[in-house]
Amino acid sequence: MALTQAQKAKIKEKLSEALHKNGRDNFECSVCGNKGFTIADGYANLSTSDKIGNVVLGGQNLPNAAIVCDNCGHTYFFNLIVLGVSKDGKE
Ligand SMILES: [Zn+2]
Repeated sequence: MALTQAQKAKIKEKLSEALHKNGRDNFECSVCGNKGFTIADGYANLSTSDKIGNVVLGGQNLPNAAIVCDNCGHTYFFNLIVLGVSKDGKE
């Protein structure tokens, strides 16, 4: 399911707040230096497991927004709970 414009706007707002809180005005790709990014059209829920190689469907996960560099494709993951987009990993 695609993210709504409101969901993307909230991610952008909270990411901007995090940057400013840390004294930065913009975000630059660490690989190519590009300043243009796209918010992926869905949450990136990274599953966690206590065993290497296990994939647990329906188990715990880290809810993230994926921010993709428009030039090289390098992708950053930002935890939605830490950003303040979600209080408990749910909407
Ligand atoms: Zn890049």
